[in-house]
Amino acid sequence: STLFDTLLRPTITAAARSERIKQTSQRWSVTEKVVRRFVPGETLDDVLAAIRGELDDGLAVTIDFLGEDTVDESQADATVAAYVSLLEAMPGLGPVRPGALEVSVKLTALGQRLPEHGAKIAEENARTIAAAAHQAAALITIDAEDHATVDERLAIVRSLRQDFPEVGTVLQAYLRRTEADCAEFAATGARIRLCKGAYAEPPAVAYPDRRQVDEAYLRCLRILMKGNGYPMVASHDPTMIEEASIIAAEFDRAPGTWEHQMLYGIRVDEQRRLVESGARVRVYIPYGTEWYGYFVRRLAERPANLGFFLRALAG
Ligand code: FAD
Repeated sequence: STLFDTLLRPTITAAARSERIKQTSQRWSVTEKVVRRFVPGETLDDVLAAIRGELDDGLAVTIDFLGEDTVDESQADATVAAYVSLLEAMPGLGPVRPGALEVSVKLTALGQRLPEHGAKIAEENARTIAAAAHQAAALITIDAEDHATVDERLAIVRSLRQDFPEVGTVLQAYLRRTEADCAEFAATGARIRLCKGAYAEPPAVAYPDRRQVDEAYLRCLRILMKGNGYPMVASHDPTMIEEASIIAAEFDRAPGTWEHQMLYGIRVDEQRRLVESGARVRVYIPYGTEWYGYFVRRLAERPANLGFFLRALAG
């Protein structure tokens, strides 16, 4: 593993948890300029403009109203209200390709970590958003967070899917358990986003080295492509992107029965190239004022992003 992995990643991840650093950083205006590369704005109008831009270029979108880890029930309610407002505004975008609009939701933003009945409250909140999404002909995917939340999240997703079968979720290839989860969800026809995983996890639960994670990703991808579900291949990695088409062809998957996903602001040219090649591509667009945790994970996963940040701070 690299110096970056051993030294910088843990430091940055620890910094993400520090309230003091967070407050300082959120005051730096230069940070804001850099953040804009990954987060197009703070308001509903900002995100609607960003959505319009992606749709015009032939991409689909999934929208994340930023926020996570709340232990305040009124903040969870505010997050639900923000998603409902966004979904109510979506028909105003005019006619779009079916399935082009999606929201991505974190259960810890909906109250999962509340000291009392957290899981129940998060599930009810997710159900409210799923109903609003259904009304707006939009999709919903429940994001993956740290490993301690996985069992509860998957239980909530199973329960939501009884009423809203189109509810999708995320499986993280770095977790040792994930091949088994892929098999389960692929068999039930679920929409599954496969990503490598973005949290600092202990080796007891996650593969510690990149090569192992990449190999696990490809094993999981095969399971999903072979199954009855709708695989969503969330990666910027050229190997994963190339293998996705190869494996899809191997299992005779028609175009439109799976898709690529990338983050807003990352490999934008590659996103367009894939669309031009006839692939489905969805861009994950975060918005809102609570960008800190998201932004720091993007810096931690790639030294080049960190370099971009440091150069902007210096200049
Ligand atoms: P990496 O392993 O980071 O990089 C591999 C290669 O990809 C690099 O060597 C380079 O060639 C290329 N590459 C990567 N970044 C860049 C760049 N900025 N510019 C140029 N080339 C680049 N994680 C979660 O834990 N939970 C989630 O719910 C979740 N949702 C996600 C949703 C989407 C749509 C995406 C794309 C990612 C999501 N992630 C999520 C993050 C994911 O787990 C990874 O942390 C992140 O995507 C980095 O892994 P990677 O596969 O893109 O490639």
